[in-house]
Amino acid sequence: MTGAGQGPSAASPDALPFDPIGDALGRIRTEFLDDHRGEVADYIPQLGEADPAAFGLALVGVAGSVYRVGEADVPFTIQSISKPFVYALALADAGIDDVLGRVGVEPSGEAFNAISLEPGTGRPSNPMINAGAILTTSLVRGTGPDERFERIRDLLSRCAGRVLEVDDAVFRSEHETGDRNRALAYLMRHAGSLTADVEAAVDTYFRQCSVLVTAVDLATMAATLANGGVNPRTGEEVLGQSAAEQVLTVMATCGMYDYSGEWLFRVGLPAKSGVSGGVVAVSPSQFGIGLYSPRLDGRGNSVRGVAASEAISERFTLHLMHQVGRTAPTFERVAPDVGLVVAADDQGTSVSVGDAPRNADVAVLAVQGYLEFASAEQALLALRTRTDDTDSPEALILDLGHVTRCHPVAAALLDAMIEQIESRGVTVVTVDRRERRLLASSAEFTTRSEALARCRGGWRER
Ligand code: GLN
Repeated sequence: MTGAGQGPSAASPDALPFDPIGDALGRIRTEFLDDHRGEVADYIPQLGEADPAAFGLALVGVAGSVYRVGEADVPFTIQSISKPFVYALALADAGIDDVLGRVGVEPSGEAFNAISLEPGTGRPSNPMINAGAILTTSLVRGTGPDERFERIRDLLSRCAGRVLEVDDAVFRSEHETGDRNRALAYLMRHAGSLTADVEAAVDTYFRQCSVLVTAVDLATMAATLANGGVNPRTGEEVLGQSAAEQVLTVMATCGMYDYSGEWLFRVGLPAKSGVSGGVVAVSPSQFGIGLYSPRLDGRGNSVRGVAASEAISERFTLHLMHQVGRTAPTFERVAPDVGLVVAADDQGTSVSVGDAPRNADVAVLAVQGYLEFASAEQALLALRTRTDDTDSPEALILDLGHVTRCHPVAAALLDAMIEQIESRGVTVVTVDRRERRLLASSAEFTTRSEALARCRGGWRER
């Protein structure tokens, strides 16, 4: 058994002497360690044997770092946490329209094993409750149950970054006691939403529920979703970016069964829980969290998993609706008096920075950071202000060398603005020392001096 803050692999940050993130997780674990509320699931004997004291927390960042405390390496069956990942596979196999036609994306507000089917069509409310999950599983491609399951296991394994095994005893018990799930499948088959064979569909579903994982595996799987479908530890693109987004959306609205609304209100993260005590939560673009504590509340969610997630979200300010503000200025200033305007001179190449006169002929606007809608909007404003007034330069150099990433929306907005500026007779060129051709509308140079030489040439010709 691993104690708080111990047991990491050598490459983990929690092997290092100073680990504020691991320490914070350790404190949260200690805080809820004595919460003994709830009951361990015992509808099958194997789940009833789980150690009720076990409490593991793991966090995996999108850069691939792993933080773990407590029983983060204890194996347990994944159960319902398999559902979002199998949903991703069904989306990839059957396409979004086909899947949406068979399984909804509306929160049911009911228990995980409720008979929540749309009147008339028999369409289950969402893929996170059992009915929807059984139907989702039946949509995964495969020549039979074995191939279908192997494809599911392969996907779960690639999200976890290691080959995951099945707990055969759990599978057999699920199979023997799974009549309610069978009944759900028969109802769906009767209504026409489930077209696959009932036994084959539930067999694959029971197998996927019986895959063994640890809290670290769950955190890695969650981090894969946080990272747009790329496993941050292996670098493999396991899911498409839009599938990752779609899965996270359904987790946000339906992942915690009939607690989903209050969970989103309090914790504010896409999440999924399972009956063996696992919870995954995802902070999009940031990291994934995996928790394990087997005692469940009345809705089938891990008591300490929910409490610790709430604390993690609050302490690390992770709520999705939280307004983060801009982290870095988008620009170096363009006004001549702060020195980023290039003055005309007769040498043809020298770039004067810091002492440019007001009537400079070439202005440099340097953009930095991640260019998305909001930062592009700032860039558009700066471009417009700089070229609208009476001392508009003859040419404008847009330096994109410090742009870390450019969203296609930002590129389209900037391209449109550049075309407008050029239609007013101002030459616009871009500089990017990495030669990425982020914008389509203007000539690109690798240095500001080359761009300047080009601007001057164009200016003299006029
Ligand atoms: N195997 C369980 C079932 O189908 C999974 C449900 C859950 O994790 N909530 O009943």
